[in-house]
Amino acid sequence: SITQTQKNTPSKVKLLDGKYLPYSLIVNTFEQVESTSSRLKIIAYTSELFLEVLRTSPEDLSTVAYLCINRLGPDYEGLELGLGESLIIKSLAEATGRTQAQIKTDYRDLGDLGEIAMKSRNKQPTMFKPKPLSINVVFKNLEEIAKTTGASSQNKKIGIIKRMLTACEGPEAKFLVRSLEGKLRIGLAEKSVLTALAQAFVAWESEKFGKKSSEVDVSNAEVIIRDVHCQIPNYGLIIDTAIKDGVFNVPEKCKLTAGVPLKPMLAKPTKSVSEILDRFGGEVFTCEYKYDGERAQVHLQPDGTIKVYSRNMEDMTQRYPDLLAGGTKFAKEDVKSYILDCEAVAWDRQQKKILPFQVLSTRKRKDVEAGEVKVQICLFAFDVLYLNGESLLKESLTSRREILKSHFITNEGQFSFAQYMDSSNVDEIQTFLDQSVKDSCEGLMIKVLNGEESGYEPSKRSRNWLKLKKDYLAGVGDSLDLVVLGAYYGRGKRTNAYGAYLLGCYNSETEEYETICKIGTGFSDEILESLYNQLKLTIITAPKSYFSYDKGNNTQPDVWFEPSMVWEVLTADLSLSPIYKAGIDQLGKGISLRFPRFIRIRDDKGIEDATTSEQVVSFYQRQASVQNNQD
Ligand code: ATP
Repeated sequence: SITQTQKNTPSKVKLLDGKYLPYSLIVNTFEQVESTSSRLKIIAYTSELFLEVLRTSPEDLSTVAYLCINRLGPDYEGLELGLGESLIIKSLAEATGRTQAQIKTDYRDLGDLGEIAMKSRNKQPTMFKPKPLSINVVFKNLEEIAKTTGASSQNKKIGIIKRMLTACEGPEAKFLVRSLEGKLRIGLAEKSVLTALAQAFVAWESEKFGKKSSEVDVSNAEVIIRDVHCQIPNYGLIIDTAIKDGVFNVPEKCKLTAGVPLKPMLAKPTKSVSEILDRFGGEVFTCEYKYDGERAQVHLQPDGTIKVYSRNMEDMTQRYPDLLAGGTKFAKEDVKSYILDCEAVAWDRQQKKILPFQVLSTRKRKDVEAGEVKVQICLFAFDVLYLNGESLLKESLTSRREILKSHFITNEGQFSFAQYMDSSNVDEIQTFLDQSVKDSCEGLMIKVLNGEESGYEPSKRSRNWLKLKKDYLAGVGDSLDLVVLGAYYGRGKRTNAYGAYLLGCYNSETEEYETICKIGTGFSDEILESLYNQLKLTIITAPKSYFSYDKGNNTQPDVWFEPSMVWEVLTADLSLSPIYKAGIDQLGKGISLRFPRFIRIRDDKGIEDATTSEQVVSFYQRQASVQNNQD
């Protein structure tokens, strides 16, 4: 651990009242980051910021890191910002003395409330200079806004926002407003923040000990921080440990723990059994049923508490009171703590079989009372990641499977192991695939069984896990998860609902939503009505500056939405399009879906978990017709 006396590099930062980091410090970095698209520069600017914070006020580094990724804490704590447009417009009007109508007019031109906040502020004459904002005050206020609920919450929130806006100087208002919206959008990806943290720690420790850091140190530290973050996605814990014990000791001190969700491993799509054999060649692999429900990461803590986390690490425990009543019943007595990776599926008690996803989705998501549950849930466990205080991530799948079978007890209709078959025979795999569909599954998951490649890779879309979805074999091999951006009014029968919607995929490089199709098929009348009622509340005055869409009058939707909802969509195939923008950065032309069909709302996915433009391009390129042409 770090105990030696240090040589301090003098910091350039001027603390407010001699102790608080000024908000302008982080805003300057945001401006630098926004001005470039070079990832290396973005990382360099951010790590310089982190280093300054380490030199002057290390206890504030996790606050600074959270502001950089525009969050208020770990995802699993569930504290979220993301205020609606109308509240921000109202606060802006009150803080600047402009009318809401004026602000809306500007918004139609600019599409960015942050810019408008900055411009309005600069025009506003001030009688006296309020105290400059500190990073701590901004963060505390954001937390308070996120926590404020109840009758007078709107006015309270406006009050806090107004106070902050009045104290903003220069570009501060721009970034403050974007933070309030929950979307900083300066091109600062979480990956870059993690890399910058590692670099800042190495530089800081070298300064302290008066030695030079090598490139090896830096890249080791980057791997450490990224790996630990996948297992413990909590900046506070990681940063505090690195400050106290040194960055290279973080893996020893910050380990996988029951009660802290890890980012789940993801699979790559495949289109055929033969593609699987090509991919896995001589390797030994297994085929498992791909259950059609919701991912459930189940944790048993040593004190007996059970927690269930979603694919997005949201705490879903209160959704399953019926399942969890009875505590540790899935495990044998010698099991004191565990983390299981499972799929929660609706179960028919009479017929003793799996029910379709649509039935599962009728269960309430929050505040479920065990007595009121009508749809029974069965958990299908397919992996064990942690047992009795030990991480199993590096074990082979064969050995994790043995541990699962020897320490847990199945109980029909409540807890089972995922069905599997180990074979590399095409006919056998085909038969197993057909069987999985007869048993109400979506298809198969194919996984490497032995050796290092079969370890569990948190957060990674790995080529060691493939998904083979029966319904999509004829199409592009997978469904797409797309964000709802706008809607077109219905005609005839559909006058009280929208008739069609505009969808987009997510470009994670530019942080833009790129339009991909107009969709009007696959909806029942009930769904159309409920979508209308939900989505009309999210209408925005103008398309956001981060929407990439065709500006022609005939293609634009009648209304635009604050992006909030993700839909799973099926398509016959993908084609190049003069109107849609998906993948335009990579291909020079946009891609669109042919015959898109709505399947379901994906409320376990956030808008940034939508299918990326990069994935759309790879679906397009793998399409048989395109491949033939290229040949
Ligand atoms: P993405 O599209 O980003 O891959 P997704 O959640 O849409 O994520 P799917 O295409 O549905 O992923 O495929 C992976 C999902 O399948 C897992 O997240 C899990 O919920 C589910 N699943 C069902 N059975 C299994 C299994 N045996 N092994 C792993 N995952 C399974």
